[in-house]
Amino acid sequence: MRILKTQAIVLRYANFKEADRMLTLLTPGMGRVDAIARGCRKPKSRFLSTSEPFCYGDYVLYKVHNFYIVSQAEVKDIFFDIREDVDKFAYATYILNATEQAINSNEGNYPLFHLLLSTLTYLAYGSTNPEDITRIFELKFMDILGYRPQVYRCVSCGNDLDKNFKFSIDQGGLLCPRCYNRTSNGYTIQMGTIKTMQYILEMDMKRMDSLKMSTNTRRELKKILSNYVVYYLGKNIKSKDFIDKIGDEC
Ligand SMILES: [Zn+2]
Repeated sequence: MRILKTQAIVLRYANFKEADRMLTLLTPGMGRVDAIARGCRKPKSRFLSTSEPFCYGDYVLYKVHNFYIVSQAEVKDIFFDIREDVDKFAYATYILNATEQAINSNEGNYPLFHLLLSTLTYLAYGSTNPEDITRIFELKFMDILGYRPQVYRCVSCGNDLDKNFKFSIDQGGLLCPRCYNRTSNGYTIQMGTIKTMQYILEMDMKRMDSLKMSTNTRRELKKILSNYVVYYLGKNIKSKDFIDKIGDEC
């Protein structure tokens, strides 16, 4: 029997048997861990809140054969404010789904864990709107996974940045007019949006609330970043369609 003591965030669960759940956890040191919370759906279970999505806590798990069983769990934050707000809930669910798509078992990723934790914290308690927080998450998420876009010069020929550049998802960054005429792809992107992307990539997450986006930047980043994430993860993300619709109503 092997014991694992770890911090974790619950990404998802699947109910099974009468009162159990299989939890999908993100841990800093081991990446994805699947663990059974026995009896957690009983009204008085001590695992009731530590088996809910978004829950951040300290977990003690023990390994039996190929899976883990939750033996102790203590809530650090359940991010109640996210559950109480439809928009926050939708963006946070998309963020959990995207994270789940990107992680594997036995592949620890401390920066990713901290990114998810601070993103949920700002969604719950910060003053920045949930859509902007989601865009910041997407860009930093891609950077952490090794898909940092080139936003300082032409990704193809290295030309210095000017206002006529476009953004190419499959090339992984900005293209100068000469290069995009040759490949004829790319999203229109204004200098304000490019500067915002540069700022986000350099920004400490503690400064999340300091970032203000114009309506145009918000519109351009929505198209570019949400598609960028799908392209580099190589799969669609559950709940993306839903947040695409919320954004359009604003
Ligand atoms: Zn070029």
